[in-house]
Parts: sequence; C-alpha cells; structure tokens
Amino acid sequence: MESNNQSSGREPTLRLKGQSANHLLSLDVGNSPRQSAIRNRLMHCTRIMKSLLSVRNITKRFARHLPPVAKDVSFEVYTGEIFALLGPSGCGKTTTLRLIAGFERADAGEIFLEGQLLEGEKVHLPPEVRGVGIVFQEYALFPHLSVLGNVVFGLKKLPAKARHERVMEVLEMVGLAPLKDRKPHELSGGEQQRVALARSIATSPKLILLDEPFSNLDAGLRHATREEVRTLLKRTGMSTVLVTHDQEEALSFADRLAVMQGGRIEQIGAPETVYHRPQTPFVADFLGKTNLITGEAEGDYAETPIGRFRLDRAVTGKVLLSLRPEHLTMSVSNNGQGGKIVLREFKGHDLTYRVQIGEQDYLVQTDYRCPFQVGDWVQLRAVEPTVIVEGKEE
Ligand code: ATP
Repeated sequence: MESNNQSSGREPTLRLKGQSANHLLSLDVGNSPRQSAIRNRLMHCTRIMKSLLSVRNITKRFARHLPPVAKDVSFEVYTGEIFALLGPSGCGKTTTLRLIAGFERADAGEIFLEGQLLEGEKVHLPPEVRGVGIVFQEYALFPHLSVLGNVVFGLKKLPAKARHERVMEVLEMVGLAPLKDRKPHELSGGEQQRVALARSIATSPKLILLDEPFSNLDAGLRHATREEVRTLLKRTGMSTVLVTHDQEEALSFADRLAVMQGGRIEQIGAPETVYHRPQTPFVADFLGKTNLITGEAEGDYAETPIGRFRLDRAVTGKVLLSLRPEHLTMSVSNNGQGGKIVLREFKGHDLTYRVQIGEQDYLVQTDYRCPFQVGDWVQLRAVEPTVIVEGKEE
C-alpha cells in the first residue's frame, strides 16, 4: 500500500544500518498502517532515483461554482512501470490524464517528468514538448491514410530516410509491418489499436498515456489485445499510465494502481495489495464483490452479527470489515444458528451463494463441487483474517 501523501517535495533520507533497502523490502513486515508506511517509505527510497512522473497535489475545476474534478491528486510513476488510474465514470481519471498530457491547465499543484516541471503555478508546457504520447479510446486514426501514413504523421520533422526507418522499426515491433499499406477500415479493432500505439511509440515519448484503450473492443479481442499490448510495453520498457473503469483490466494490466472516487485518490498500491487490503469501504466494494460487515473489535478479534472473526490488525471499538466471498466457507448448521441459503448461482468454474442471516445477505464463493442447495442452513467461517476498512487503530 502507498499513501496518497507522498509528495512533500523533500527527498527522504534512509538509514539502513548495513541492510540494503531491497533486502528489507523482501522481508514480510506485516500490513498494519504503520508497517505499510515503513514499507512504502522503503519502496519510495529505493525507487526515488527512478521516479519518472511526479504528480503533486493537482487540483482542477472547470467552473467556479462546480466542485473540483480532481482534488489534491498525488502519485508517482516509476521508470518502466505500468500505472493505472481506476475508478467509476466521472471520477476524474481522464481529466487527470489530460492534465499530464497538457490538454488542460491545473488550478493548483505541480507535475514533473524526469525532474522537469511540466505544470505548475506559472508553468504550462504545451502538449507537443512534454515528451508524452497519448492513445485515445477511439484511436483517432486518419481514415484516408495507410497504417504507414498514420504512424509517419508524428515524425514529420525527421529526414525522410530516418523517418521511414523509425516507422518500419515500430511497425515490426507491434507486428503490423505486413499490414503497412492498409487503411484503418481494413483493420480489426485490435489492429487499429496497435496502429494508434505505434504512432505514439514512434515519437519515442518518455511516457505513454492510454485512455480506456480497450473499451471499443469486444470481450474476446479485448483480452487478447490487452495481453499483447502489455507484453509490448514491457518489452520496450515503456512507462505507462492507463485510465480505465474496468477493475479486472487494472488488476491484470498494471504494476500499481490508484483507485479514484469523486476526484480524489482513495488508495494506491500493487493490485494484490489493493484487492486484499482495501483501506476504505469504497475500494473494497469497487474492486470486486465483498461483504461489508459491522462489528465490535477488541484486539485481534471482532464480534459481528455472523460470528467472531480474526482481524488483519489489532483495533478496539466499532469497525467496518470487508470479507471477500472467496474468503468465506460454509458448513452444515445443525443447531439452527447461521443462516439460510437463498440463492445458488452456478458459473461453471465456481459457485456463488447468497446466505441470509437475520436481515442481511452474505455472499460466499465456493468451487464448483459445493453440494449445498437453496434452503439449506449453513454456518459461515472466514478462512482469511477480515480486513478493517473503517476503525481506529489501537
Ligand atoms: P469516464 O470514465 O466516464 O470518462 P472519468 O473518470 O474519466 O469518466 P472525467 O472525464 O475526468 O471522468 O470527468 C470528470 C467530471 O468532469 C465529469 O463530471 C465530467 O462531466 C466533468 N468534465 C470533464 N471535462 C469537462 C469540461 N471540459 N468542462 C466541464 N466539465 C467537464
């Protein structure tokens, strides 16, 4: 996990007493906020030399009477990293991307690329000198130009020979050299997507911005194209910011992601961390199905309406817990305790059950062999510690 307040502008000093930062990072120091803060600090320190993009406390509003669309947004993107901005429609992802690209002016905050100030109180570099390439959702290809013509477009300033060599190099890279003479309407959606990417890469940007690049593709093609593009970005070592509202896409495509809501970043971290250790109810709910359960905590355990659960850290008092359906199991209830199965959904590879306990329903995901049927009485048990998404630390 990484907090959103990492941009004080001061370089951190790190005293490791003979241990390398990488060695310390490899140790499991736990997941309490304090332990995470230590780990984040270490990650920050080991990567600071390689930090490429630094977005610091950016705020943007489109009209005085309207609330800001981006509020105090801060994050870092490291060299070679794929970073995703994930959130529901209207949360400010695209605006943040456009601020990085230079298509919008920020009202406050700063944006640095390789240490150069792109955006600040008195600075607004135009998009064409920022060293940033952008691929739009609709690809924005010229319909009357061939693949080659589209890719060559951004390289007008190069001498003809160098231009041709660079275009062919990039088309080979994205596997489109054999299709170089086709027009966009003679290409599949995935191929058009790769032309748009090739056009961006051709100018050798320091950073590529991808704005919902797969959303125009149908489900099967989207998956395959996503894999291809990710492999390509990693092979070329391109640093990338991806904007998406698709949780699965962000989790599978990005090295790290920021979850946004209402113009703010709620949490930044590696996909596994953000999924398994959400810090807010919104993040828990947005990243997949979850059961949000209120409870009364005392130390490492909490009493809840469905039983006593172990916590991921020690707290005392009222808590809101997140328990993913796949972290719950069911057993037969012979004593009338527990709850009744009211829904069983077979999905081929697994099953989802809805269990009613008191007034509330809980989701449980099991493998496809689970024998329970609608009407059965079951007890629930957590196989992982429950994650506290609201509650005070001890
Ligand atoms: P989506 O996934 O639907 O594209 P998003 O998270 O990318 O959503 P933005 O496009 O950044 O959201 O828009 C955030 C908010 O800002 C929205 O309410 C949108 O209507 C508003 N907005 C965006 N551009 C402008 C503009 N030029 N003028 C006024 N309001 C705008």
